[in-house]
Amino acid sequence: MAGVYLSYPFCSQKCTYCNFASGVFPAELERRYGAALRTELKAAEWEWTPETLYIGGGSPSRWDTEDLGATLACVPGREWKEATIEAAPGDVSEERLRAWLAAGLNRVSFGVQSFVKRELAQTGRRHTAETVAGEVAMLREAGLGNINLDLIAGLPHQTVATFAESLEWIVRLDVPHVSVYMLEVDEDSRLGLEILQEGSRYGAGQRATEEAVVEMYELAMERLREAGLERYEISNFARAGYESPHNLKYWRLAPYAGFGADAHSFDGRRRKQNVESTAEYVALMETGGNGVAECVAANLEEERFLVGLRLAEGIGLSAAEYGAHRGAIERFVGDGLLRWEGGMLSLTRQGVLYSNDVIQEFLHS
Ligand code: SF4
Repeated sequence: MAGVYLSYPFCSQKCTYCNFASGVFPAELERRYGAALRTELKAAEWEWTPETLYIGGGSPSRWDTEDLGATLACVPGREWKEATIEAAPGDVSEERLRAWLAAGLNRVSFGVQSFVKRELAQTGRRHTAETVAGEVAMLREAGLGNINLDLIAGLPHQTVATFAESLEWIVRLDVPHVSVYMLEVDEDSRLGLEILQEGSRYGAGQRATEEAVVEMYELAMERLREAGLERYEISNFARAGYESPHNLKYWRLAPYAGFGADAHSFDGRRRKQNVESTAEYVALMETGGNGVAECVAANLEEERFLVGLRLAEGIGLSAAEYGAHRGAIERFVGDGLLRWEGGMLSLTRQGVLYSNDVIQEFLHS
């Protein structure tokens, strides 16, 4: 099953923790972006018909609905099995919702991150828990129940108790899919950079300890499971039948084509990345360029471990592959971090907490 990813990198504000190539850009650039995307889509040579679609970025929920509809009309394969739009809480209106449904979208993923006022205020997000609850209700009323809510563990001022509050909101809202991400600390976000430089802006000094973040993640696994949402990937939990077929592609190494600034593509052999700068992407598309910054051969042998082990189902190994990694597999199985059953290798519940260390071992062995 193959899919399409569209990047819409425009946001109303830049959140302190965000390390994506998204941001607040001039309105004039935003107006030209849709046409640039359509140019790239129309020039694509489709080797397959996409079955899933994902619009991320960015805050595509602020995308002018007419421009969005015109762009989706350039993507083959409608009705897509799954067609998701990422939404910033506060952006949903009945008018937008009608336009999304008419354009073929059938799933909404909300970047909630937290339901706790103080944590949200510190990140620069403007919504409240009530905003999210109201918009989830609005989607359901319109017949759109396939909803994901994103949470972050490790935000400034967050404690295990306040994270539990956010989890309770999720359970009450009774959505079929939840993603729980650990706060990423790197120099691509203002908060990450401040933490690395041991500063105090953006609440950097009030960040949860690593032990607390592990506790939050363990709590999420337990509470979401009780609520009927099983972990099917390190960060993703779903009710049976609501696992995202689009996202599963990334971990199962299925092909997808990405369009827009900083979008990635994988055709089964090569990985391609578009230029990161939104202004550069638009300028390239307006002047007959192709927007591609890099195209490299994929290292499928390593990638199978790198992304496949993130899945609860794990990866199937042949006898030869098992033999090549026997030392590492037997050590981690002995330590209770990996499970080897029926030809499938997967992380145990404990192994998930040390996934980076475990996976790393297969990239060099
Ligand atoms: S977290 Fe989402 S809304 Fe905030 S800046 Fe990043 S992409 Fe935009």
